[in-house]
Amino acid sequence: MLWTPMEEFHYDQIPDAGRVEEILKEHPEITHVSMVHSETTSGILNDIASVTKAVKAAGKTMIVDAMSSFAGVDIPVGELQLDFLISSANKCIQGVPGFSFIICRRKALDQCEGKARSLSLDLYDQWKTMQADGKWRFTSPTHVVLAFAKALEELDEEGGIEARSRRYQENNRYLISHMKAMGFIPYVSEEHQGPIITTFFYPENRNYTFDEMYRYIKERGYAIYPGKVTDADTFRIGNIGEIYLEDMEKLCRIFREFLQAKGAAA
Ligand SMILES: *Cc1c(COP(=O)(O)O)cnc(C)c1O
Repeated sequence: MLWTPMEEFHYDQIPDAGRVEEILKEHPEITHVSMVHSETTSGILNDIASVTKAVKAAGKTMIVDAMSSFAGVDIPVGELQLDFLISSANKCIQGVPGFSFIICRRKALDQCEGKARSLSLDLYDQWKTMQADGKWRFTSPTHVVLAFAKALEELDEEGGIEARSRRYQENNRYLISHMKAMGFIPYVSEEHQGPIITTFFYPENRNYTFDEMYRYIKERGYAIYPGKVTDADTFRIGNIGEIYLEDMEKLCRIFREFLQAKGAAA
């Protein structure tokens, strides 16, 4: 049985390793635990280290969705003893969409043989084929692979994960401090806020809709996201990709102009 700790915790909280340990004791039928690292819904960066420790101590398989954190946040995969880490070409690697990849333990992968319930998502079969001839089982996404190779070169040129991580953090810190100065409050507390995407509450009594704000910003060259948490009225701003401090400055200036146009500037 697969269990996902987020099911137990509120959107603005991080799963607690102590509670995970208790649940695994109460439910011996759980064999696998999966967890999102950078939670794109809220912006939280979960503590995969402490939860993985609890999961591995209980002898269970640990699966981490590192879709929006891998290459943007340093992850000591071997040290953490993760069994499976899943990510893709199109987030912090800054490639184009088209394939995902999995870093896993050989032993854990061997146990997957013959178990997939889907033909195309059969990880073991895919791995076997790649071992044999280096290809995808179906048509290889050649242009995506080329773009991925180029993206990895660019990651190196930037100074690796450390430098990229620093850029994202700087973007994120700039964004939050300037949004706060304009009266926007982040949904996630500072200690759990990740460097990838930030959820902001709408100010109370606002006299504009998300659509108006979105269009105003879009016309000036940037795109933001609607909120996704179900318990509060929010919107989100991502700061990963080919995005620099200069972009954050411009974006914050556009926000300020929008609020001024609405007579709602703080
Ligand atoms: C983006 C994202 C996904 C989905 O990735 P796609 O490339 O859109 O398929 C899944 N999980 C998390 C945490 C993400 O950020």
